[in-house]
Amino acid sequence: MQINIPRGTQDILPGEVEKWQYIEKKLKEICDKFQYNEIRTPIFEHTDLFLRSVGDTTDIVTKEMYTFEDRGNRSLTLRPEGTASVVRSFVENKMHGYASQPIKLYYLGPMFRYERPQAGRFRQFVQFGVEAIGSNDPAIDAEVIALAYTAYKSFGLSKLKVVINSLGDTESRVAHREALMAHFAPNIGEFCHDCQNRLEKNPMRILDCKKDREHPLMKTAPSILEYLNEESSRYFEKVKTYLAALNIPFEVDSNLVRGLDYYKHTAFEIMSEAEGFGAITTLCGGGRYNGLTEELGGPEAPGIGFAMSIERLLSALKVENIELPIEKTIDCYLVSLGDAAKDYTVGLLHTLRQAGLSAERDYLDRKIKGQFKAADRLHAKYVAVLGEDELKNNKINVKSLETGEQKEVELSELVAVLKDFTAY
Ligand code: ATP
Ligand code: MG
Repeated sequence: MQINIPRGTQDILPGEVEKWQYIEKKLKEICDKFQYNEIRTPIFEHTDLFLRSVGDTTDIVTKEMYTFEDRGNRSLTLRPEGTASVVRSFVENKMHGYASQPIKLYYLGPMFRYERPQAGRFRQFVQFGVEAIGSNDPAIDAEVIALAYTAYKSFGLSKLKVVINSLGDTESRVAHREALMAHFAPNIGEFCHDCQNRLEKNPMRILDCKKDREHPLMKTAPSILEYLNEESSRYFEKVKTYLAALNIPFEVDSNLVRGLDYYKHTAFEIMSEAEGFGAITTLCGGGRYNGLTEELGGPEAPGIGFAMSIERLLSALKVENIELPIEKTIDCYLVSLGDAAKDYTVGLLHTLRQAGLSAERDYLDRKIKGQFKAADRLHAKYVAVLGEDELKNNKINVKSLETGEQKEVELSELVAVLKDFTAY
């Protein structure tokens, strides 16, 4: 019986995987420039971590988690996002005590959410994200947004829209919360069950509801920006000034709220404005979360971060018709004629590889024509042909597949010759 892949997951096969490798490498280079260091945390965590940090009014916690009991009766959850684990690790490893501050980290790996699969929405997907913990400087908010923007730009995307908002500090949020409750309460019966729950717990999240998006009361809801106290306003102004200094075009959308209940001050998303992108246009989202380290048992340490999925980045590249510059070649393919030469290439191939060259030979007893075809398929730069006569004279014929030029060289010199040729 054939067993198929689980819903909402995908195999990334050779031919496609090179794109992923290219993207991952580039993202790591960008992080290096921006001075964010990689952190690797477990794929599963105690369920409580997500209940406490992501928040119990979010879609993630209410309906998307892969939660299971292990054989020791512990409740564990496959990580649905990265911030919770990074902040847990920050607290657990007492990173607030490290000499170099703020702590700037990035992660890249699979996340799991039980969602209804559709374009740009998977049950297993790969997120790249960064977190900067330990600074309250609005310049770091701008830096994090700049990193995300730079990343998309570096792959050639041009139809991008950066949207920012401020969620204010606690004082501003309390005032806004009152106003939101007064706004929605009289008609809350017309909203979905989730929104009814959110009214008391966290009315701001009503604004992020996917079901009630079109309800007229959404558009007339009181804007958080009118409730920002002086400090929050000043903070937001600084972020905007810095973004302008970084030449990052942005729009302000006072209805932009983010998943985490702990988000304060800056919230942002980058969307694709390319035509034909479909219903889901958000490429990444992030913001500032002051208070999360304390919630997880650590000292006060404000943080800001964002996360993007590679899947949505790939969709954006496709819609903008961008081909990543992926070159797949090998240095040399060994072609042999006759049994003795064939046997000889077993050792010779290994010698080439040990010398640092990428090389391949035939394993299917192909005729010479078939071996040349195989070399072509691998985009070999050079083919080295070894026949009975050459072997007897300790020679080998090196041919450039690009120019067609041929040259007979000493077998003992093959490595040096190829290294010299492929150095350009
Ligand atoms: P959405 O509103 O699309 O559900 P979200 O608010 O759940 O997004 P976040 O939790 O902020 O998204 O995750 C950050 C980023 O991760 C998203 O902007 C998107 O790029 C990506 N992402 C989220 N869920 C998925 C998924 N199921 N499949 C692929 N990518 C995803
Ligand atoms: Mg979601």
